[in-house]
Amino acid sequence: MPPSITSSDDELVFLDERTPVVHVVEHMPEEAWRVMIIDDDADVHSATILALGNMPIQQRPLAFLHAYSAAEAREVLASEKDVAVILLDVVMEREDAGLQLVRHIREVLKQSEVRIILRTGQPGYAPEMDAIRDFDINDYKSKAELTRIKLYTAVTAAIRSYQQIRAINDNRRGLDLIVRASTELMALHGLPDFAAGALARAAGLLGLQPDGVLCALEDQGTTRQLLTIAAAGRYAGRDSKPLDPRNDAAVSNAVRQALAERRNIHTPDSAVLYLAGSAHRRFAAYLHIPAPLREVEQRLLEVFCSNVAIGLDNVELVSRLHDFAFFDPLTKLPNRTGLKEALDSKLVGVDKSYATLALVDIDHFAETNDALGHQFGDQLLLGVAARMRSRLGKKLTIGRVGGDTFGLIGDSDQVSPAVILGLFEEPFSIDNNDVQLSATIGLVRLADYAADTGTDALKDADIALKRAKLQQRSGHFYYSRSMGMDIRERVRMMHALRSAFQERELFVVYQPQIDLVSRKPVGAEALLRWKSKDGSFIPPDRFIPIAEYSGLIIELGEWVLREACMEQVRLQQLGLRDFRMSVNVSQVQFRHPHFLAMLRKALEDTRIKPALLELEITESIAMEEPDALIRLLGQIKQLGVSIAIDDFGTGFSSLSYLQQLQADKLKIDRAFVNEIIQSARGSSIAEMVIQLGRNLGMTVIAEGVEHERQADKLAALGCPLAQGYLFARPMPREQLIEWLQQAPHPDSSRF
Ligand code: C2E
Ligand code: CA
Ligand code: CA
Repeated sequence: MPPSITSSDDELVFLDERTPVVHVVEHMPEEAWRVMIIDDDADVHSATILALGNMPIQQRPLAFLHAYSAAEAREVLASEKDVAVILLDVVMEREDAGLQLVRHIREVLKQSEVRIILRTGQPGYAPEMDAIRDFDINDYKSKAELTRIKLYTAVTAAIRSYQQIRAINDNRRGLDLIVRASTELMALHGLPDFAAGALARAAGLLGLQPDGVLCALEDQGTTRQLLTIAAAGRYAGRDSKPLDPRNDAAVSNAVRQALAERRNIHTPDSAVLYLAGSAHRRFAAYLHIPAPLREVEQRLLEVFCSNVAIGLDNVELVSRLHDFAFFDPLTKLPNRTGLKEALDSKLVGVDKSYATLALVDIDHFAETNDALGHQFGDQLLLGVAARMRSRLGKKLTIGRVGGDTFGLIGDSDQVSPAVILGLFEEPFSIDNNDVQLSATIGLVRLADYAADTGTDALKDADIALKRAKLQQRSGHFYYSRSMGMDIRERVRMMHALRSAFQERELFVVYQPQIDLVSRKPVGAEALLRWKSKDGSFIPPDRFIPIAEYSGLIIELGEWVLREACMEQVRLQQLGLRDFRMSVNVSQVQFRHPHFLAMLRKALEDTRIKPALLELEITESIAMEEPDALIRLLGQIKQLGVSIAIDDFGTGFSSLSYLQQLQADKLKIDRAFVNEIIQSARGSSIAEMVIQLGRNLGMTVIAEGVEHERQADKLAALGCPLAQGYLFARPMPREQLIEWLQQAPHPDSSRF
C-alpha cells in the first residue's frame, strides 16, 4: 500500500514508491528554496518529493534539482549557485562517490554556503567524523531513518542554517563591497567624478549596470530645481543639466520625495537613494532596477548611502579648500601658492630663459583703503585685475600674491617695467570716480632658476620689490643674486649654527595648547630657539632651513625630540597626567632612513608614554612620496605616537591621500585664523577645515589665536583646541610650569 502524502504517520516514505523520474526543474519561482537530490536510485527522488513536495519552509516553497550520479551532480552544480540543501547519497558509482562529491563542492566549486545532508542505504555505514567536520556536512542519516517527519525536520533545519549563513555572508560581502566602493570613491577628484562614481558603485553593489541619475537640489530664487550631477544608462550625457520635471516626472517626483522625507524609497523598479550630508546642497540618486530589492540589499544601500553622503560633503569641502588654497576669492586669480605652482612649471620649461617674474605693488593702497573703505579698496583691486586680464591675460600668467600685490609671469618683453607701468597710465573708474593709480615693480629673470625653485624666485622678487620701494615710488628694480643671502652668507650661518648647537646656545620653548571650551591646558608645542652670542634671537624660520640644508637638522631634531619628551615626563611627574607634547619634524628628518629607529630609541630612553607624544608634519611633506610616507606614518602610529598636519589648508589636494595618512589632527594655519573675523565671506577656510576634521574623525587645533573674538568664533564653529598668544607665548620650561600653576583651570589637583 503506497503511503499517502497527507498521511501524518511517521512512516518510511520511499519504501515502494514508483513515481516517474522528475528532471531538473528549468524555471523555478525566484523565492523557492532550491533543494537538490543526488541519488542513483530514482525511487529516492520521487519519495523525497512526495515527502517534502508541497510543504513550504519558512513561508517559501521548495523547488527540486535532480542528479542521478556524482558526475551529473558536478555538472549541475557548476552552473547552479543558489542551492540551499543537497540530499546526497553516499554510495553511488563508487563506495565513496558521495564524499568525493562533497570534497569537490567545498574545495573546487568553493560553495561553502550550501547545506549537505548525507544519506546512505546501508545502516551502520557512517563517514568519519573528520569528514563530517572538514566538509561541513550538516547531517548524516541512514535512509531508513529518513521518515517523512524526520526528513522534513532535517531539511528545515538545514534551510534555516543556510539562510543564516547567507545573511551573514551577504552582510560581510556587502560591507566589504561598501568599504571597497567607498575607498575607490575617495580617490576621485571633484564632485562630478565622485557623483558618477557613486552612481556606478551603488549599481555595482546590486550587481547591475548603472542606469539612473544623481541630482542636487539647488535654490533658484524662489523655486528649487534638481540639477543632474551625474547620469548613466538611459540618461547618459545629461549631466550638469536641470532635470526636466515634464519629461522625467516620475524620476523628479521620486527624488523630491526622498529629499523631503529624508530616506531611501524602494519601488519594484527603482531605488531612490537619499544622500543627505552636504551643508551646502542636498543630494539624491535615482536608479532603475530590474527586480525588487531584497531586504539585505536595501540595508546595504543604506549603509552605502551614509558613506557616500559624507564623501560628497568631503569632496565639496576639499574642492572648495583647494580653490581657496590656490585662488584669490576676490579676483579669482591664482594666489601666491597658485602663482608658485605656475612658476614651478614654468621653470622646467624651455622658455624660461626668456621669461620674467614681476611683482606689481599698488602705491598708497593702504591709505586709500583706510580712507575710502574696504569695499572701495576691493573695487580698485578688481579694476586692476580686470585691466591686467584684458590687456595681458592672453600672453601672461597673472596672480594676486598679497593684499595689493599682483604677480605676472611671461615673456621678458611683455613683463617689463614699460608695459606694466603702461597699465596704470589711464585712471580706473570706480563708482563713477576716476582714480589714478601708480605701482612699484620688483622683477626677476627666470633664466637663473633651477626647476622647483618657484619659492626662491618669489622671495627674490619680494626682495627686488622692497628695494624698488626704498629707491623711489613708481619705480622698478631687477633682482640680482647679490641682493639675497648668498652662498657665503649661508655657509657662515651654517658654521655659526653648528657651534651654537655645541655650545648650548639653542634651547627649546613650549607653547601651551588649550581646550577651547574649558580653557584648560591640554598640551604644548615644542619650538626651537637660538639666542646668539650678542643676545639677539635668530628666528627659526631663518635657521631651520639652513639646518635642513646642511643636514644638521638630523642631530638637532633628535635633540629637540628628546628634550621635549623628557619635559613631558617631568610634567607628568608633577601631576599633569594627560599633557600632550607636540614636536615639529622636518621633511629632511622624515626622509632619513633611521628616523623610525631614532624615534623608537627616544621613546624608550625617555620613557614617555607614546600616546602623549605628537609629531607635527607640514602639509607639504605630506604631499611628497606618498607611498613611502603612508607606510612610515603607519609605523609611527603603531608605536602609539600620534600625527598632526601642520599649516593645514595651505595647499593640499587629495582627499584620499589625506585619509590614507591616518593623521589624528589638523592644525589650521595661522593665516586662516586671522581671516575668520576679518573676512565677510560666508564660510571661512577655518570653518571648512573644522567640518572636514569632523567628517574624517580628526581633531582640529587652530594656531596663532591672538584675539578673544577669534577664540569665540572658533569655539562657535566647533573647533575643540587652540594655541596662540591670546593664551600664552612660547616659553622656557621653568616659566611653563609657573604658567601652568596659575592657569585658570588647572589640569590637575597639584596645580
Ligand atoms: P610652526 O610649526 O607653524 O610654529 C608656530 C609658530 O607660530 C611659532 O613660531 C610660534 O611662536 C608662532 N606663534 C604661536 N602663536 C602665535 C600667535 O598667536 N601669533 C603669532 N604671530 N605667532 C604665533 P616660531 O617659534 O618662530 O617657529 C616658526 C617655525 O619654525 C615653526 O612654525 C616651525 O615650522 C619651525 N620650527 C620651530 N621649531 C622647530 C623644531 O624644533 N623643528 C623643526 N623641524 N621646525 C621647527
Ligand atoms: Ca608646528
Ligand atoms: Ca604651523
